[in-house]
Formats: sequence, C-alpha cells, structure tokens
Amino acid sequence: MTTQKARDADFQDVQEPFHTMLIEQLSLFPYLEPETAPRPPDFIPIYEPWLGAREEKYVLDAVRSGWISSLGKYVTRFEAMFADFCGVDHAVSVSNGTTALHLALHALGIGPGDEVIVPALTFVASANAVTYTGAKAVFADVDPATWCIDPASVAQLITPRTRAIMPVHLYGHPAAMAELLELAELYNLVVVEDAAEGHGAAIDGRRTGGWGRIAAFSFYANKTITTGEGGMLTTDDADLAARCRLLRDHAMPPQHRYWHDEVGFNYRMTNLQAAVGVAQMERIEEFIERKRSIACCYSEGLQEIPGITLPVEAPGYTNIYWLFSILVEQPFPLTRDELMRALRNEQIDSRPFFHPIDTLPPYRTDQPCPTALRLGRQGLNLPSAPSLSNDQIARICHAIRKLGELRHHG
Ligand SMILES: *Cc1c(COP(=O)(O)O)cnc(C)c1O
Repeated sequence: MTTQKARDADFQDVQEPFHTMLIEQLSLFPYLEPETAPRPPDFIPIYEPWLGAREEKYVLDAVRSGWISSLGKYVTRFEAMFADFCGVDHAVSVSNGTTALHLALHALGIGPGDEVIVPALTFVASANAVTYTGAKAVFADVDPATWCIDPASVAQLITPRTRAIMPVHLYGHPAAMAELLELAELYNLVVVEDAAEGHGAAIDGRRTGGWGRIAAFSFYANKTITTGEGGMLTTDDADLAARCRLLRDHAMPPQHRYWHDEVGFNYRMTNLQAAVGVAQMERIEEFIERKRSIACCYSEGLQEIPGITLPVEAPGYTNIYWLFSILVEQPFPLTRDELMRALRNEQIDSRPFFHPIDTLPPYRTDQPCPTALRLGRQGLNLPSAPSLSNDQIARICHAIRKLGELRHHG
C-alpha cells in the first residue's frame, strides 16, 4: 500500500471534497476581491482594515520628509512601540510575517537536516518558512478545544533532528506556551512563536511575543493591526535581535558599507509602512478591546444553537479573537460549506478554516493529523473587522440561528 496510487486512494476522502470546494470557492468567494468588485450596500466583509486620519497624516509626513525607504523615524518609533506593547527588549521590523519567520529560523541557524515541529492547522506560511531554510516541517496535531498545537502531539514527534517548535496562536488564542517551553527545555529545542494572529493575546497576563526565544508578527491588511504588508520580530535576546537586523539588510554591517561576511536578505520594512504602523499602534488597545467585545456579542447571539461550537478562552488565557470562528457539525442542518454559501446569499462573508497543511500537495503525509482534519472541515471564520457594528453582528447571528432551524420547520 505504499504506491502513489494507493496513497491517492487513501487520500481521496481528504482531497476530493477539498478540491471541489476550492473550485466553488474560487467562483463564489475569491480570496482577494478586487477593489473594483461591486458590493451591495449591506454586504458584510470578513475583514476590513481600520484606517483613519492619523494613518493619512503620518504617511503624508513620511512622504514629505523624503525618507520613504527603511531609514526614517517611523521605523524606529514603530519598533520601540511594538517592543513595549509585547513587553520585550527588542523588536525588529521586516517586510512581512513570512519573512519574519524565515529570518528568525535562519538567524537561529536552522537549516538542512533539521526538523521544526509546526501545527498541522495553520496558514501555510508557517511551514513554508521552515522549508525556505532547507529544514523539514513536521506536523503536530492541535488541541480540540483551543485549536492550537497540542504539546502531547509535539512530544511524540521529537527526534534527534528536531531543533525547534513553532507554536501558532491560531485565530487569536495563545498556544500552550508553558507546556511547550517545558518540552523545549527538556530536549534543548528553541521555540519560535508564529504570533501573526496573536497581537496582544496573553497567558497569565503576559503577552505573546515574549514567550518564545523569538516571535514573528504579521501586519497584512486583515491582521489585528496593519501596515499593508509588514512584519516584526520580538525577542529579549540582544544578540539574536542584532543578528536579525544584520541579516535583514543584506548582512551588511552599518559600519562597513558593502562588506558582507555572509549571504543576507532584503527583508526591510519601509518608513511609509512604519508610518501606518505607528498610527495603528496608537489605537491597538482599542482594536483589541473591540475584538473582545465583538466576541462577547457573537457568543451571546449564537449561544445554544445545536451543532454550533463557539471558540473558547482557556482559563488564564486571553484570546483576542482575531477571527471569531465557530465549528459547524450535526445536528446543525447545514454543513459548514452549505452554511458558508447560505450566508453569502444574505450578503455575509465568511471563510473556511485552513486546509491542514499535511493535506496540501507540497506537505502531504500518509496520516494527516485527525483533529486538524476534523477542524479544517468544520471550522468557519465569521466577519471580525474591528469596525463591525453590533447591529451587523446581530444580523449575522440571526441569519445563522434561522438557518439552524430550517429543518425543524420542514
Ligand atoms: C498571516 C500569517 C502569516 C504570514 O504573514 P504575511 O505577513 O502574510 O507574510 C504567517 N503565519 C500565520 C499563522 C498567519 O496568519
């Protein structure tokens, strides 16, 4: 049963519904809707960045100053503000969340022959960053309640080649950092947080970004704060921060222009992006507060609908509900995909959970992680922009509740 054909047969169950769904999604739910796509006035998008006069003012200031590349006061200020926000000593800005992850792994010396344990349920960039270094991404299953990497699954995957664990604070719930750090210490592994979805999420009041040896954040347009494209590394390790700064700038020492001891990267953030970032940082606490109140509204509006599971906040954890998400299963009368389509007919956008990475062609394994597989089929992200109104949330909850009652009324 090890021929490709046999493997394909094993995966038919996994691949075919996904494939069919993908085609439907491409026509019904284009991932990147062009700016010009017509939208009915009552359409509720899955996300919208919250930009205002302050962002405009700082960008204009940066443009007028002439400092539009990576040297400029906004870059320095954004880094300082972000380090302060996470409670760490150092923050290093980069061009996006994926380059942040790659730079972190590379700076830690991870490369060919090494293994990095990544959750099966995450955005593909977590695994891709490992692949870029030449190391191998190994997939751990996730916790059925928090949807984050399961330390028990990680423990089973550790080999002499394992160098790092990359927990992801999925959809805004922090991963079990204390348990993972214990494992890391026992086996001498580094922990690299993928905090792209966890700005401000915390455990026992201590924010993400300071739990691992280093953490990577993203400021893509749909993330909790945005710079258009952008990323940040946070760490308390001064040497590691300095190494990341050197490597993001072609490995060129500032005191020795055009001298390069090694192969570096151009992973810099521009002052224009950082200008938006500073404006967003001045409102980040407000964004997080709003996200938590959005989650409260949803949880009230969606309580006790048979077959709908709400996201949790484990004791001691602060979930920032980056994307408020639900699980859809029987006895709810519609499947997750049917619900997604029905909501779309009511001008309400939603997104399916990520396909588990160990089911994607570049990373397919013989035995995909079962919990990630189930969540990948049942999970649905609901509209979660900080600008969402309580009335809009009520409309979404009402629509889901009504669809849930369909069968009972014939
Ligand atoms: C968004 C995201 C990334 C990648 O960030 P980009 O800025 O888009 O490169 C990585 N990991 C996770 C979990 C993400 O959600």
